[in-house]
Amino acid sequence: MSTYATQGPIGASEQVICPVCPRHCSLAPDALGACHARRNVGGQVVDESYGRVTSLAIDPVEKKPLRRFMPGSKLVSVGSYGCNLRCPFCQNHEISQAGADGVRWRELSPEALVDLALDQQRIDPDVVGIAYTYNEPLVGWEYVRDCSVLARQAGLVNVLVSNGCAEAGVVRELTPLIDAANIDLKAFSDDFYRGCGGDFSCARNTIATLAAFPTCHLEVTTLVVNGVNDTDAEMELMSSWLAGLDREIAYHVTRFFPCWHMQDRPATPVATVYHLADIARRHLEYVYVGNC
Ligand code: SF4
Repeated sequence: MSTYATQGPIGASEQVICPVCPRHCSLAPDALGACHARRNVGGQVVDESYGRVTSLAIDPVEKKPLRRFMPGSKLVSVGSYGCNLRCPFCQNHEISQAGADGVRWRELSPEALVDLALDQQRIDPDVVGIAYTYNEPLVGWEYVRDCSVLARQAGLVNVLVSNGCAEAGVVRELTPLIDAANIDLKAFSDDFYRGCGGDFSCARNTIATLAAFPTCHLEVTTLVVNGVNDTDAEMELMSSWLAGLDREIAYHVTRFFPCWHMQDRPATPVATVYHLADIARRHLEYVYVGNC
């Protein structure tokens, strides 16, 4: 278990504010945060999900998705439970929206995870590292940090797949340890992010921080949901903003399928995804469609 220090002297009987993400949950003693991963334990906000692994698989790097980072390689992909957002179309809601009591998990220390990845690499040399993915890794960012330090020492790469809604201090601390990231750009409006419990400016700041960091390869994904974020104007805004950071950011425009709380509409038409990808290509060098 690991902690993220809160500011100033805090008594065990007091309410504390979690500093990890823009929700800034105010937690009574023993209370769990909105992400279901962090808890007020004795006046400190503890990452209770630390080392609790719900999902473990070996995935092609292209599945993250990353198209311009070590193509053909594979990653040991690891996830816990919990997320700070409530996207109604979440494809991983069984773990992202659950807490410790709602999923099956097992303890896997950073040392054990890195050993496991090295074992897999001995079996299959295409395995090059670890991806922190499936649920939202940044609500348990200390596990990502501790695994990443050990993985790098062992010659493995670290990949982060995230919604990007974490405070700048968390992102700054992790970025030097991350070799590649895929961050969601879910839409280009405060309203959309607010509706999911996220923060638009925070997501943009994370993308901008990673884009500017010389040793971190960045790709970005937008899930196009019909009737929600599928207009030409919104794609213009998203892709031109990304191009302002770097025209060579690889951008994934992917197709929505009905899921979880969003069953009220059909899958996004393939033609819409292709059309929006063409708009993005006016601004960006590398645009890929997904789920089509
Ligand atoms: S990381 Fe979790 S507990 Fe902390 S502010 Fe975000 S949702 Fe709340």
